[in-house]
Amino acid sequence: MTPPFTSSASSRFLRYVTFDTQSDEQSESYPSTAKQLVLLNQLVGELKDMGVSDASIDQYGYVMATIPPTPGKEQVPVIGFIAHVDTSPEVSGAGVTPIVHRNYDGRDLVLPDDPSMVLREADNPELAEQHGNDIITASGLTLLGSDDKSGVAEIMAAAEYLMSHPEVPHGPVKIGFTPDEEVGRGTQYFDVARFGARFAYTLDGPVRGEVEIENFSADAMTITFKGFNAHPGYAKGRMISALKLASEFVHRLPHHGLSPETTDGYEGYVHPHTINGGVERAVVKLLLRDFTSKGLDEKARMLTSLAEEVVRPYPAASIDIERRESYRNMKEVLDRHPEVIQHAKAAMTAVGLKPQFRQIRGGTDGARLSFMGLPTPNLFAGEHNIHSRLEWTSVQDMDKAVEVIIAICRSWSE
Ligand SMILES: [Zn+2]
Repeated sequence: MTPPFTSSASSRFLRYVTFDTQSDEQSESYPSTAKQLVLLNQLVGELKDMGVSDASIDQYGYVMATIPPTPGKEQVPVIGFIAHVDTSPEVSGAGVTPIVHRNYDGRDLVLPDDPSMVLREADNPELAEQHGNDIITASGLTLLGSDDKSGVAEIMAAAEYLMSHPEVPHGPVKIGFTPDEEVGRGTQYFDVARFGARFAYTLDGPVRGEVEIENFSADAMTITFKGFNAHPGYAKGRMISALKLASEFVHRLPHHGLSPETTDGYEGYVHPHTINGGVERAVVKLLLRDFTSKGLDEKARMLTSLAEEVVRPYPAASIDIERRESYRNMKEVLDRHPEVIQHAKAAMTAVGLKPQFRQIRGGTDGARLSFMGLPTPNLFAGEHNIHSRLEWTSVQDMDKAVEVIIAICRSWSE
């Protein structure tokens, strides 16, 4: 029996999580926090040390590098692997103290710096797949940063492996590390042309074997209800309360479906998240989500006619509707490049995994990149309970992800 594949991913990971790289929604600079640059610069140095000589960081903090092709593979399409260094603003990422729980056997993992933080298999069914593996958690006070330093460590470990194993055939392979994914700005200044890859993969997903190829298509809608104010003592027959129109509109939204709290899987929703205003004017802000643009249009039409219905009895009242595109389902792009998924599938199978395709009920940097001309599905990195003090990953999942990266490079070269 061949021993399981091991890599430098977990030792790198244990080091990278000690860098505080929290991003900041309120910041107007780019990257949003300067501390992200400390790790990004560190990665440039480590890439150079392993012989990836063109590793560089640009003015925005994007790290890009090239693993040169093996002889005879210069014409293979250029592919890239991308991960983000920042961690969520929701939970502290300062002073992360990672703990490796060796040979996990289903026991409760109590995090020592806050013993009320207990990772239990009963609450985390995915832990059942991890018996015998080494689980990594934080110590109870912070998140772990597996989202997405697992991805960073895996790409670094794969780069190291490819650089020191010239017998493994591959074409030109690009590496990209980005800031500010958690605040929705990870691709804002990403220069697709400079990156130079035809296709890419983000490593930023949870479960071993999963490939995420679909995400929500998303719009934001703002509906402004305009009423008519008058002195409330003398308002009979004259006042029209925009506040009441807006409330009536929200009340008439479907009660048994089409909402975040009643949908999952492939179902979309409409989500009023903010209401603001008074008698003259009241504003309702909504999120629209669906997996198809057609479904999104239907939801927009439904909301429009509902708002019109609400104001119809009041000729002096009116509405104003603004709909703004947020992001689109990357499947629209990936369907035109089936080879991207084919190679991920072949690679997973080659390393003994059963590829699973999953949809993301949100957006991803990969979706944005796909529409910027770089088709980019998302691969598992082994990150679980993200944005939480109970975040965890496993050494073996990380090694498996490294194997997948190497196998994808090999698959494209064949
Ligand atoms: Zn992430």
